[in-house]
Amino acid sequence: MRILVTNDDGIFAKGIEVLADALREAGEVVVVAPEVERSAVGHAITLSDPLKVKEVDRNGRFFGYALSGTPADCVKLGVFEIMAEPPDLVVSGINLGSNTGVNLIYSGTVSAATEALILGIPSIALSLDTFRDPDFVPAARVALRLVKRLKEMDEIPLLSLNVNVPALPEEEIKGMRVVPQGVLRQIENFERRVDPRGRVYYWQCGAQNHKDIPEDTDVGALMRGYVTITPIRCDLTHRSALKRLKDWNL
Ligand code: MN
Repeated sequence: MRILVTNDDGIFAKGIEVLADALREAGEVVVVAPEVERSAVGHAITLSDPLKVKEVDRNGRFFGYALSGTPADCVKLGVFEIMAEPPDLVVSGINLGSNTGVNLIYSGTVSAATEALILGIPSIALSLDTFRDPDFVPAARVALRLVKRLKEMDEIPLLSLNVNVPALPEEEIKGMRVVPQGVLRQIENFERRVDPRGRVYYWQCGAQNHKDIPEDTDVGALMRGYVTITPIRCDLTHRSALKRLKDWNL
């Protein structure tokens, strides 16, 4: 099995190193990842600049290809230019911080997975629910179990799975839930500051709304200690609205 591994935290992030090391047990791993952090770039691609590729060593041996582009660029270039043959699976992560609810729209980690889906390749996006002192090992083990499960199938289904792992020791993780996105509005928050030259600037520091969130959603199940799996797709069409609007005549 050939696996393309990417992320949005950049090729030198700890999460992608732990993930790539774990997945080598399941197949041949090729890493193509942004040369710097590109979190929250969504599904952006690079059209007005060249895409430069650099070979990167980690811990004294070849690790992968660093690209001067976005996560979606990494998947496109990895599939069509860098890998000799297209991969059987694309795995993105392990992201530092969860990707649940409306955050999927902004997430580079998730967009790498949906880019794979557009190209007709099954994919997994993986995120760990913490920004502090991350231990990526339990999440990497979840990734390996998932990949092995897919590998056992006669044919890997063309799905993109968004997976979130609670930041708990393995024995404290309660289990796994297959759940839809919990789409609630963010709590918007901007920290207003003044620079040494008197100019006003802002830090965007909004947070997810965790109040009254149903348990059978990614946000709700993750905060209760479950690994969450959400099958996702690229089609943004609102099906029932489509039916209602069909009679419109302007
Ligand atoms: Mn990130």
